[in-house]
Amino acid sequence: MLPIVALVGRPNVGKSTLFNRLLRKARAITHDLPGVTRDRIYGECRMGDVRFDLVDTGGMVLESEATPELSKDFEDEIFEQAQEAIEEANAIIFVVDGKEGLTPLDQQAAEYVRRSGKPVFMLVNKVDGSEFAPQMTGEFHELGIEFMPVSAAHGYNLHEVRHRVKQFV
Ligand code: GDP
Ligand code: MG
Repeated sequence: MLPIVALVGRPNVGKSTLFNRLLRKARAITHDLPGVTRDRIYGECRMGDVRFDLVDTGGMVLESEATPELSKDFEDEIFEQAQEAIEEANAIIFVVDGKEGLTPLDQQAAEYVRRSGKPVFMLVNKVDGSEFAPQMTGEFHELGIEFMPVSAAHGYNLHEVRHRVKQFV
């Protein structure tokens, strides 16, 4: 069995977009609506001589979050998916949204991920160019998790992500 790396974070931060970019093919459905990824989706990644299974999840929807588009059952279901993904993972890529900035949900999700005790690497996504990186990522330092600014949509820093993930699997 290959090591498992799980993409977790709240809905709409770009996990599925990242999943597709890292796999170099469109497997996960991406959408503006939160919670589109219901089940966990697996894809085998090969980065040089390192192989692992990357897992996309619907996202951490925590109890404090009321999302009008999602029913409670659906929220419960995708939260459970994220929870199970964390449990089975060897390492976690925690994704946040640099455009929206740090939210209370990110803080809760970070706490949850940290509690798992697994190696965690954070991606501040939607930094659509290096010139935006410093002002978009500053506030994420307070989570105390090593991170990298990326743009899943435009490819910014994804080469570095591949390199970093290889070391941490
Ligand atoms: P998920 O719910 O975390 O899986 O998020 P998705 O991958 O479905 O993406 C949610 C929305 O964010 C979609 O409209 C994406 O096109 C958009 N998005 C994802 N990555 C980026 C990015 O790097 N930059 C920008 N500007 N938008 C992005
Ligand atoms: Mg998704």
